[in-house]
Amino acid sequence: MTLEIITIPCRTNNYAFLLHSNGTTALIDAPEAGPVLKALKEKGWSLDMVLLTHHHPDHIDGLPGLLAEYTPKIIGAAKDAHRLPRLDIAVNEGDEIEVGSLTGRVIDVSGHTVNHIAFAFPGAVFTGDSLFALGCGRVFEGSMEMMHESLQKLAVLPPDTMVYSGHEYTLANAKFSLTIEPDNAALQVRVKDVERLRTAGIPTVPSLLSLELATNPFLRAKDAAEFARIRQAKDKF
Ligand code: ZN
Ligand code: FE
Repeated sequence: MTLEIITIPCRTNNYAFLLHSNGTTALIDAPEAGPVLKALKEKGWSLDMVLLTHHHPDHIDGLPGLLAEYTPKIIGAAKDAHRLPRLDIAVNEGDEIEVGSLTGRVIDVSGHTVNHIAFAFPGAVFTGDSLFALGCGRVFEGSMEMMHESLQKLAVLPPDTMVYSGHEYTLANAKFSLTIEPDNAALQVRVKDVERLRTAGIPTVPSLLSLELATNPFLRAKDAAEFARIRQAKDKF
């Protein structure tokens, strides 16, 4: 297998991911060390790289505990280096990152934070707090226009791409999504699936981009103004 990805629940509702290719292992985001160390040991993998999506504590707090046991290269946005942990490789939009035999591309998805980045590999995109399953991150630092534009960069990836997002917020997102598109049949089916999965304690992440395109109201907003209206409604939901 050229590619293996492990989803690791962390903290209350965060996800970290281990991406393994050709003997190299990369972690995407470091919410906490314990569950990541456990997963590495179970797989018998070393930690070679850590890819950071953004500077929020629930995405970087696990680093010290990981650095106590491994010496990975830390990769993050060059423009955010002042508020990220020490970076070994500082990247900008369009830069390529090699993990084993895989090549990923950095996408600037500013909005939740400015200089938030996503990592797009063939078949898998790691979106942090930009695109969520049936949702998107709160716009804390950027503008609504910026976040809308960022989501549209993700929308044009191949539709069979799996979306690995940073939080399990899908059940709440599902309830909100139905208020925006109550007659969307694909959404109705998906909400039932999400309820079943969450009742069974199963992660709803990753999700298929084509399904997000059919059901995620934030991706489906026709322009920045409609996006802003939906995002503001979600903030009050
Ligand atoms: Zn965040
Ligand atoms: Fe977060």
